[in-house]
Amino acid sequence: MAEVNGVPICSWDPWPEPLVTKSQLSKAGFKPGPLRAVVRYSKSSTGDGYLHLFNPDEGIRRKPPTEKQIAARAKRKADELKARTCPQCGFVYSKRHIRLNGGICEECWWGVKATNDRQAVAEIVAQVLQGGCVILDMETTGLYNAEPVEIAVLDHTGAVLFNSRVKPLRPERLSVKGEYGETATDIHGITAEDLANAPSFGEIYPALYEALHGKHVVIYNEAFDLPLLTATRQEWYCPSFGYEQSSCAMLWYAQFCGDWSSYFQSYRWQPLPGGDHSALGDARATLEVLREMAASLNEKTQEKNHAMPNV
Ligand SMILES: [Zn+2]
Repeated sequence: MAEVNGVPICSWDPWPEPLVTKSQLSKAGFKPGPLRAVVRYSKSSTGDGYLHLFNPDEGIRRKPPTEKQIAARAKRKADELKARTCPQCGFVYSKRHIRLNGGICEECWWGVKATNDRQAVAEIVAQVLQGGCVILDMETTGLYNAEPVEIAVLDHTGAVLFNSRVKPLRPERLSVKGEYGETATDIHGITAEDLANAPSFGEIYPALYEALHGKHVVIYNEAFDLPLLTATRQEWYCPSFGYEQSSCAMLWYAQFCGDWSSYFQSYRWQPLPGGDHSALGDARATLEVLREMAASLNEKTQEKNHAMPNV
């Protein structure tokens, strides 16, 4: 029989009874004694191509672990589990190397961020309403190279500062089909005939200037309405409205609703709730959205007050 360093090399078949492997010994509660034989084996656990065999009668009984060892092992296990468990929701990550955001899991972290962002935007909106902003809304001849056909401005209390139809320079655009096959008239119901006797932008400009000048102007989708309004004003050679600043209620409301899009890396825009596609109706709906956001702040404060212990 072949030998390596005095240890016989055996084959699987027949198995050199009564020899056993290290793991078989370990399961029985023994540490291995001297090496008694090897079996050539391409995938041995030691990686050297030999399966090591021992005599079970020569196995050394392992000492049972001390209480200290048992306690230390339990603590290690508990610490390891704690390191990958979210303290907020109890979610357990399968892998140890994952670092939790501030100790909480990713989902909870997004929850905290959304709550903080919602609170922050509610505070901003409450201040803007308190500061006496105005709300502007327009209906237009379309999406591209468009003109306003209806403009409404409310103050922060809902009082109507301005509300008028406007006769556009290019009314034929109202019936041009857009990307989805519908015309501007399909959306807001205003036709070129409806506007035949309406005042021009030049005629309404002084009253609109009066409503907007020096104000914080809030618009649902500012990025669409404001450039359009500026282009129209310039086309009519009218000077700047000189508003104090402008803000987008749509971006505020997106943050308030907290529907995060990882694709866009921003909060999803929400359609204006309660809008009716008239300038005045949409301006009122925008004011309602602002009020809803600001009111959430009061609810929160009240909850806090309720939670205070009676003294
Ligand atoms: Zn969590």
